[in-house]
Amino acid sequence: MKHRNFKTVPRMIFGRGSFDQLDDVLTEERQKPDDFVVFLVDEVHKDKPLKERLPNQAQDLVIWLDVTDEPKTTYVDALTEQVQAFGKGKNPVSVVGIGGGSSLDIGKAVALLLTNPGGAASYQGWDLIKNPAVHHVGIPTISGTGAEASRTTVLTGPDKKLGMNSDHTVFDQIIMDPDLIAGVPKDQWFYTGMDCYIHNVEALNGTYINEFARAFGEKSSELCHQVFLEDHPDSDEKLMMASYMGGQSIAYSQVGACHALSYGLSYVMGYHHGIGNCIAFNALDDFYPEGVKTFRKMLDKHNITLPKNVCKDLTDAEMDKMIQVSSGMAPLWDNVYGPDWKEKVTPELLRSLYLKM
Ligand code: NAD
Ligand code: ZN
Repeated sequence: MKHRNFKTVPRMIFGRGSFDQLDDVLTEERQKPDDFVVFLVDEVHKDKPLKERLPNQAQDLVIWLDVTDEPKTTYVDALTEQVQAFGKGKNPVSVVGIGGGSSLDIGKAVALLLTNPGGAASYQGWDLIKNPAVHHVGIPTISGTGAEASRTTVLTGPDKKLGMNSDHTVFDQIIMDPDLIAGVPKDQWFYTGMDCYIHNVEALNGTYINEFARAFGEKSSELCHQVFLEDHPDSDEKLMMASYMGGQSIAYSQVGACHALSYGLSYVMGYHHGIGNCIAFNALDDFYPEGVKTFRKMLDKHNITLPKNVCKDLTDAEMDKMIQVSSGMAPLWDNVYGPDWKEKVTPELLRSLYLKM
């Protein structure tokens, strides 16, 4: 058996106010007077104090990101072209992604495409990226996805929603400043936070689990309990670390049934990752009985009401497409059931689960 040779983020800064050290990080990369940095920032921050704190210099490029839709390959290609036109043949010395999972993924993707020609869709898959990316920095402003820690950038392409998975995708630097996640709207805070909680439940109950992934997953899970079921003054710190550790856990294990079903919801119905996971997870009592029970306590505590009966108006063709997308997530189902998963994951099972949501 061959074990995974797992690349992690080599440098990270953690702590309140650490955003201000971004300037020091970029100074190390800036060597010549015309060296420039590209800031890709969630446009939610355009009218917020963070804008004034960006350490951008006159020669830099700041782009405000529209994350109404989750990142598409076409959007990433357009941004890459914008950066190339701005640089007139010269690449930036660093690309800084600031925001949630969407903005972090866009930051990773643009850094990769600046050195790998041909467009994002041609790199959706595993280890298709050939050249190292431009230096790239990730700064989360909402926590849960683990995108700050992972070796993927999830993109919706012309025919699939799939990440560009590679060692080159991993950030060179992350800055985790709990101050930045203050002020996230409650529902979104909950949905993105639950992505982390669900990563842990799926990893810890999966067949791929091992002591490495368990060590991170259990601690992340404990932090999620503290954040979502208790009241702590430092819950922003806790959620930030939970997200990072959840990401580390699944990097060495795998997610499961909830993510497999949620990918279908997202592809056919356009649900965003966090809320899609919540809708799917709420139907998975048979898979994760304890996890789902605790999840409902969390929903209650924070007065979150999930949409119900979301699949009732789907056409047969749409339902079939969702079933096809979900059953195509082979490693996820393998993690749930083991190598004989194909006998268990029937169209009838998936249809019945979708109809429960
Ligand atoms: P997001 O980045 O889509 O942001 C959700 C909303 O929160 C947006 O409206 C955004 O503007 C807003 N927001 C962000 N920071 C804010 C702040 N400080 N204050 C107020 N509003 C703020 O949400 P997400 O759940 O973090 O990310 C979802 C995306 O991440 C999906 O595209 C998913 O596929 C991807 N993802 C990637 C990985 C990975 O490993 N690369 C893992 C899981 C999910
Ligand atoms: Zn997830």
